[in-house]
Amino acid sequence: MGIKIDGKEIAKAHREEIKRNIEEKVAKGVRKPSMVAILVGNDGGSISYMKNQQKLSESLGVKYTSIILEESITEEELLNEIKNLNEDKNVDGIILQLPLPKKFNEKLITSSINYEKDIDGLTDVNIGKLYKGEKCFIPCTAKSVIEIIKSVENNIEGKKAVIIGRSNIVGKPAAQLLLNENATVTICHSRTKNLSEVCKDADILVSAIGRPAFVTKNFVKEGAIVIDVGTTMVEGKIKGDVLYDEVIDIASLVTPVPGGVGAMTTTMLIKNTCEAWEKNV
Ligand code: NAP
Repeated sequence: MGIKIDGKEIAKAHREEIKRNIEEKVAKGVRKPSMVAILVGNDGGSISYMKNQQKLSESLGVKYTSIILEESITEEELLNEIKNLNEDKNVDGIILQLPLPKKFNEKLITSSINYEKDIDGLTDVNIGKLYKGEKCFIPCTAKSVIEIIKSVENNIEGKKAVIIGRSNIVGKPAAQLLLNENATVTICHSRTKNLSEVCKDADILVSAIGRPAFVTKNFVKEGAIVIDVGTTMVEGKIKGDVLYDEVIDIASLVTPVPGGVGAMTTTMLIKNTCEAWEKNV
């Protein structure tokens, strides 16, 4: 029988460290870290996500400002808003709530964020730095994955890691982070043949596909670490990719959904903000 990895507990330890660090610096007269979130339109999910970000940020001593813009604004006006924030020395981190309404060129707008304030790790510069193994801002979900793995496994080097999913925000950066830790990494996707066999070879298995209960015991090697990134709403409940009750009998460690990776992501966003702040003050 394996052990449940408690994402909330891991997040709590990071939060305590973040709070302590901010308090120490603020006591010496340094200004607080500051993050600005931009939402275009009025998507209810994004608004409630931002409220959670604000609550957690403020509880840790981070100034959080939300800018909600009408969907009718032009691309030029949005770019101008970002330009002003890029130039504002009192703003450390900028996060743009995605997806943007369809009329906007999302790639162009995301890329216009100053990479030194890109706390979501989505600009080309940060993506390039990640692939070169340089210090950079890492997308929060992928950062959560690697931090969880590091908290339970201090010897990633040489381990076989399999990631299911190759999105730019989760699968690919998570794979690159494991590669940077000297794991031997395989990335799987919807065209992978013999998927369960490939996964069964993994010491570390990360699933980021969004298919509830897809990863059964047939995908898991005995003693493996299994990280479930998937979140899908099924009959009003959030479900992971991993059939937890079955996989926990074979794996050594498994993240639950909810309470695993998802419990870490906002904390990682704030951690990125603090990294930007430390360079800025
Ligand atoms: P995405 O962009 O839709 O990518 C899904 C990936 O899964 C694709 O690479 C796709 O392969 C692959 N895939 C889909 N069905 C598959 C199958 N049957 N076999 C093998 N691979 C398959 O999704 P995402 O943004 O990366 O998110 C993945 C999941 O993580 C979603 O459930 C999302 O809600 C969740 N998520 C959770 C958090 C959190 O905080 N916990 C944060 C972000 C995302 P192809 O490339 O071949 O199409």
